[in-house]
Amino acid sequence: MTETTLGPGPFVPPTRFAVPGRIAVGGDAASAWRTATLTVIRRETPHAATFRFAVPGWAGHLPGQHLLLRLTARDGYVAQRHYSIASPPDDAGHIELTLDRVEGGEVSGWFHTVARPGDTVEVRGPLSGFFAWPGNRPALLVGAGSGVVPLMSMVRHHRSRGLRVPLRLLVSARGPRELIYADEYGAETTPVFTRGAPAGVPVGRMSAAHVAPLVADAPPGGWEAYVCGSNGFAEHASRLLVEAGQPVDRIRIERFG
Ligand SMILES: Cc1cc2nc3c(=O)[nH]c(=O)nc-3n(C[C@H](O)[C@H](O)[C@H](O)COP(=O)(O)OP(=O)(O)OC[C@H]3O[C@@H](n4cnc5c(N)ncnc54)[C@H](O)[C@@H]3O)c2cc1C
Repeated sequence: MTETTLGPGPFVPPTRFAVPGRIAVGGDAASAWRTATLTVIRRETPHAATFRFAVPGWAGHLPGQHLLLRLTARDGYVAQRHYSIASPPDDAGHIELTLDRVEGGEVSGWFHTVARPGDTVEVRGPLSGFFAWPGNRPALLVGAGSGVVPLMSMVRHHRSRGLRVPLRLLVSARGPRELIYADEYGAETTPVFTRGAPAGVPVGRMSAAHVAPLVADAPPGGWEAYVCGSNGFAEHASRLLVEAGQPVDRIRIERFG
């Protein structure tokens, strides 16, 4: 792990609107590009790493939201991509992103091979209120690969605020080495391994056997389900949820593909 220490940037207190009893997020602030300085790079798996940024003026976000990231080359060439925010909202003036290295990928390739602490990029956000979880309703989180990133922001928020509202995470990875944030999971999480698993742990695609018991165990008022991953995974997981009895209008989907 490489680390440099930067002083905390000025944190602008939330001003615009508040989600009942929980977190407030600036409205106009989301439309401004801000300079984000890379402070720490943390390897998560052989193909994924977390990039921590100091973002002075960052107005805060809700767990589940994403941002737009802009890289500008010396010749003026610009590349923009969307990335989910992995860190919880209470990490004032800082955000963390976790990027999978995509084969031949322009932006993820730059982060994984060139980026160093001290480098700057631009970010705009937070974006997408639809996939946000303010922490005020039971949440059933289903993700695969880097699709776990916005869900982890929810888990971290749940923990850091000591929330009692029920929360469960079902996360799929090829194997234990590819499981992002493996050391952070607790009793709320069930991992599903598709290619290889420790002795005694079944290997296979996420199935009704994983999803149905969680849906059946819904708390009073039911789950709000959040599904995140590739297009194929999002379709597969949402079909499993519906077949298990989860109402279609209570499934929120974020597709990375
Ligand atoms: C709302 C949203 C949130 C996202 N959050 C995250 C996140 O938290 N972490 C993360 O790692 N990614 C996330 N992504 C994906 C991210 O935006 C980029 O698509 C990804 O990093 C690839 O960009 P690149 O410039 O490296 O690859 P590009 O240069 O754009 O693509 C290179 C090649 O890889 C293919 N490709 C592009 N994206 C993918 C992919 N995701 N999987 C497989 N092949 C691909 C392309 O078709 C192309 O052939 C998110 C996408 C969306 C829409």
